[in-house]
Amino acid sequence: KFSYQNRLGFGSGNPTGKIPLGLKRKGMRIVVTGGAGFVGSHLVDRLIARGDSVMVVDNFFTGRKENVMHHFGNPNFELIRHDVVEPLLLEVDQIYHLACPASPTNVVGTLNMLGLAKRVGARFLLTSTSEVYGDPLQHPQKETYWGNVNPIGVRSCYDEGKRTAETLTMDYHRGAGVEVRIARIFNTYGPRMCIDDGRVVSNFVAQALRKEPLTVYGDGKQTRSFQYVSDLVEGLMRLMEGEHVGPFNLGNPGEFTMLELAEVVQETIDPNAKIEFRPNTEDDPHKRKPDIETAKELLGWEPKVSLRKGLPLMVSDFRQRIFGDHKEGS
Ligand code: NAD
Ligand code: UDP
Ligand code: UDP
Repeated sequence: KFSYQNRLGFGSGNPTGKIPLGLKRKGMRIVVTGGAGFVGSHLVDRLIARGDSVMVVDNFFTGRKENVMHHFGNPNFELIRHDVVEPLLLEVDQIYHLACPASPTNVVGTLNMLGLAKRVGARFLLTSTSEVYGDPLQHPQKETYWGNVNPIGVRSCYDEGKRTAETLTMDYHRGAGVEVRIARIFNTYGPRMCIDDGRVVSNFVAQALRKEPLTVYGDGKQTRSFQYVSDLVEGLMRLMEGEHVGPFNLGNPGEFTMLELAEVVQETIDPNAKIEFRPNTEDDPHKRKPDIETAKELLGWEPKVSLRKGLPLMVSDFRQRIFGDHKEGS
């Protein structure tokens, strides 16, 4: 049977699957589900640059062809329009599973990709989320915290879907011996982020550029920790290549209230941008900040890009997409 280790040239004599340092690795065949999305497309850029063959599986629900168009014509790149809710037969070495409709079908998609990993002996990485911690009673959140999630609330479908996806991933690991990796991703921003999906960073940046007031929900004192996308992609790749299952928190521990975020956006884009308060959504977590000691120790990873450094890097991309002005590169 074809397996990840065999592909790297090791049989069962290398049970950890670890690649010895200094050994030149062959290009691998890697599936990125959701690869036409925000995070996925940046991951694809890195994998292609490294010399791997990449198959993007995406149904363009929130992703865009434009995010990966620059790879068209590259023989190492393939774009497959497919809904992961339907079974998929491929021969691959690694699966980065990012496709995630915010709906119960999330679970079915994860099950199919685990089934695929089991059949071909591929290594499977799940992009879970800090939302598995819910409205956390522990601060900052460690991976050992089980979370405080409302099972029947308005956000539950996403939170519980990802929690179930984690459960399935561990069951396939224990029950079927699939090599798995779990990342719990904290709020991430950067170029190619969806402009209109309502996330706070994309909202504020788009609003400031359009000279609209920044909409702060509630009193704006709730906190989040914002990670720049290149830091996340580095963490995902280290996790996939390393020998630890996780789960690992991948996030930037810098913690900001929404009012502080609004200030950084004002400093970066428009000091005169107004702030407008709006009622907050139900079940909004009051605070969120990753404890990343495990990732530091076991993956040798920590974020490098602060919010003040990272925010300007997405502004030119947003400006171009909103106004179609081609003055700056993306
Ligand atoms: P995104 O919406 O930009 O990317 C998701 C991609 O999956 C899109 O290209 C979409 O078209 C595709 N997709 C959705 N449903 C699909 C289906 N049924 N079949 C095939 N493709 C499908 O989101 P993102 O921010 O890039 O997130 C990527 C992953 O990281 C997701 O799993 C998300 O839950 C996780 N995550 C992201 C953040 C963040 O802050 N960006 C935080 C926590 C977790
Ligand atoms: N699956 C898939 N591609 C594959 C192998 C499996 O999409 O290459 C799907 C399969 O259709 C099923 C799911 O993954 O819905 C789980 O597969 P598994 O073999 O673990 O479960 P079973 O089919 O035995 O219930
Ligand atoms: N938020 C806000 N204004 C907006 C959008 C969001 O103040 O225009 C707040 C929201 O209430 C939440 C925080 O920003 O407290 C982060 O929201 P987002 O949807 O970006 O991420 P998540 O809640 O999933 O962490």
